[in-house]
Amino acid sequence: QAKESGKNSICFYTSDINDRLLHYQKTTALLRNALVAGSLQLYFQPQIDLKSGRMRSCEALLRCFDENSRPVPPDIFIPVAEKSGLINRIGDWVIDAACKQLTAWKDTALGDLRIDINLSGKQLTNQHLASQILQKLHHHDLRPSQLGVELTENEVIEGDEVQIGQLERLKNAGVHISIDDFGTGYSSLLYLRKLPVCSLKIDRSFLHHAMENSSDMAIMQAIITVGHSLGLSVVVEGVETSEQDNLVKTLSCDLAQGYLYARPMPADSMPAYLVSMMGH
Ligand code: C2E
Ligand code: MG
Ligand code: MG
Ligand code: MG
Repeated sequence: QAKESGKNSICFYTSDINDRLLHYQKTTALLRNALVAGSLQLYFQPQIDLKSGRMRSCEALLRCFDENSRPVPPDIFIPVAEKSGLINRIGDWVIDAACKQLTAWKDTALGDLRIDINLSGKQLTNQHLASQILQKLHHHDLRPSQLGVELTENEVIEGDEVQIGQLERLKNAGVHISIDDFGTGYSSLLYLRKLPVCSLKIDRSFLHHAMENSSDMAIMQAIITVGHSLGLSVVVEGVETSEQDNLVKTLSCDLAQGYLYARPMPADSMPAYLVSMMGH
């Protein structure tokens, strides 16, 4: 009996490894093809200034489509891209695509919009990343302040000179730096003081819990207060309901992002979104 179940568990184990290997191979093939075929796409999600109600910036979210043109979520393909090393090529593609979009929006009603891209910590270990980004902006005749980068707190390793040096170069040049999903990692608020950052993005789980749980509400309030006292602007992610919108306004958050205002959308839907906003 014991032997049999032992056999079974080995069987499960190997098939699990097989599944993971297959998933890895399938996803890397998909990403390689997408890079060659040019089928990656950036979607954009507005960030709303809560005082003025205006859209100041938007987050670029990468989309990859499978052979049936179904979107594959980034939470699936980004980890594979990081593991396989493809993240550098993909990251370069994202930077180029953001520059092209900023150029296309130049001299339109969206001309003042900043685009914030997501960076993987792996990309920051490239000691030429900052100069590559600044060169691309320059090449497209764009100002560094038209671009922002978002990094989750765990991606920047405490004391990593190369990573922090890259962030410093970007920030000194005027690129906006945000810490993404803030509160879910293990970095202390003290560590934050040593990082060259401009904004904190509070992870959406806090907002969702804050609606029912007073200690989550207290944590959110504390993050906002400390963020402000460090001179940072605070963005709250995942606003889905008008109750949540009211809450983030009373907590004096600066900016908000979420399905309530807009879902991530292709670039060509952005002008109509801007028009629909102005009607409010
Ligand atoms: P993130 O940077 O924290 O992006 C926010 C995610 O929350 C996005 O998911 C967005 O669609 C989703 N979201 C926005 N508003 C709401 C809301 O009101 N409710 C809920 N439930 N979700 C909301 P998405 O687009 O699936 O991206 C997932 C993650 O993938 C991103 O999290 C980011 O970490 C990563 N990612 C996306 N694009 C890139 C990229 O170009 N490079 C890298 N390295 N990572 C990326
Ligand atoms: Mg982000
Ligand atoms: Mg986030
Ligand atoms: Mg995230």
